[in-house]
Amino acid sequence: MDKPISKLDGKQAKKASGRYRFFLIVGIVAIALWAVLFFTLRGNYENEKQTYIESELTLLQSLIDGIIQTYGKFSSYIFNSAVSDPAVLEIMWEANTADKTDQIELRRELYAILRDEYELTTKYNFRQLHFHLKNGDSFLRFHAPEQYGDNLLDIRESIRLANIEQKYVFGFEEGRIFNGFRFVYPLFYQEEHVGSAEVSVSLAAAIETLKELYPENNVTFVIKREIVESTVFSEQQSRYVVSRLFEDYMVDVGVDERILSDGQSSQRNDDPSFLAIIRDNASSQMDRQQPFGFGFIYQNEHFLARFLPIWNIERKPVGYYISVTADTQIQKMLNQWITNVALVTLLIASVFLFFLLMNRNRIKMRIMAETDGLTGIYNRKYFVSESEKELSRSLRYQRNFCLALFDIDHFKNVNDTFGHLVGDSVLTALAKRIQNSLRTTDVFARWGGEEFIVMMPETDLAQGLQAAERIRLLIEAQPFEGVGSVTVSVGVSDACSLDKTVDDITKRADEALYEAKTCGRNIVKSRTASK
Ligand code: GH3
Ligand code: MG
Ligand code: MG
Repeated sequence: MDKPISKLDGKQAKKASGRYRFFLIVGIVAIALWAVLFFTLRGNYENEKQTYIESELTLLQSLIDGIIQTYGKFSSYIFNSAVSDPAVLEIMWEANTADKTDQIELRRELYAILRDEYELTTKYNFRQLHFHLKNGDSFLRFHAPEQYGDNLLDIRESIRLANIEQKYVFGFEEGRIFNGFRFVYPLFYQEEHVGSAEVSVSLAAAIETLKELYPENNVTFVIKREIVESTVFSEQQSRYVVSRLFEDYMVDVGVDERILSDGQSSQRNDDPSFLAIIRDNASSQMDRQQPFGFGFIYQNEHFLARFLPIWNIERKPVGYYISVTADTQIQKMLNQWITNVALVTLLIASVFLFFLLMNRNRIKMRIMAETDGLTGIYNRKYFVSESEKELSRSLRYQRNFCLALFDIDHFKNVNDTFGHLVGDSVLTALAKRIQNSLRTTDVFARWGGEEFIVMMPETDLAQGLQAAERIRLLIEAQPFEGVGSVTVSVGVSDACSLDKTVDDITKRADEALYEAKTCGRNIVKSRTASK
């Protein structure tokens, strides 16, 4: 049995290419939408992460500031209760004018008065009690009583300010021996400035306190190597080692550089690849001397690294507090982002697929509504609507067109002799044969039963007759499989300016066809309107 016609005519091909263009546009829109959502979600994730990191930086800074302030309060207590003792101030007053021999005696006296207090303060992490004369000479270091006489004005801004400007100074400062938070008080005896006294707490101690209070906030610090090398007494340089993270920075040996001293992590701290990740992420940002942080993944675990600059009394950056902690927040944000992207992808893909199926269905429905189920060519309804369009076009532009109505001769006999199914296959084969012989601009349809119709645009009656005759011969010339010779009678008519509907033209074609039948069949007849 012949299959229905699948070859696309001009209109169908146009429709098909339009369909692909539609899919292409929908596809591009879907991809563009996906890209916009992807980058929006990524932007949100980056913002959220940045906000989180910034809040963690602020938190760490407040913890450190809080601890240092507490030490500051404690230092003022030491100053008020011990240092500002009149006996102490009197010694300082005398020391400024005494000769070297008398100074030795005065130093010894001062040491005797305050030794117990000093020892007590060391139990609370203070590691320095240092008296300076008003010219900035070191007078007595309780932590190194044998080292004195060196002038500190040029290398210790805090001592310069306390003695020249005579004001209380506090802040971080690298010293000849120790680094630390300095609390420097100008000293007055009977309202006369007599020098200054300083207590200090090491950064290491501040960090230890932080660790005791907030074990999860593990912090270390690094100091610029050039500062250590230019400030610290050479015999005291052994208090520092070069940082394993940054070779331009040094670490106080009193501080554990193991930035993750959470017990299990010592292995991690010694792993060069772990340190390398931190180094690679931080190096480029360290020159900016601003707080910064970043998340990173090491052996499938997420970490948060925080870097806070350490400013000295002159407001110059001298190092960094560094904290690296295991972190789940960034991981959660990352997972959320991945989930969102996956959902968006799924949603857009589903919408696209839905569109695709809907459109396919719509096209299927349209094809079904326009075509004849048996032969696959257009049906009568579609033919009429196309011919109506052609009629108005021809009226408007005074163009001609023709209709040719075909009717198979004695088709009843075919059915009666060979059965309905064979009859069907003859209809299909015949439709195919006609379709293949037409121009792509012609519209060919099943008119009903064993009748077919062709609309030929831009064709006058003579040309229409010619085409119809050609088709008639084509049918007659080649026998049909299992049936033999089949013939058709044809009625041709052309459109005229009086035609109001396609019916008017088909009626004339039908009359011509009737004439062909009565003339003996297998013949073409025409009927033109009297113009
Ligand atoms: P004439 O030469 O006068 O046209 O004779 P005819 O037998 O072709 O005309 P008639 O109108 O008497 O019969 C038309 C036949 O076409 C009858 C009907 O069974 C057959 N027919 C109509 N539609 C179909 C169809 O879809 N399939 C098949 N197999 N036969 C059909
Ligand atoms: Mg008929
Ligand atoms: Mg017939």
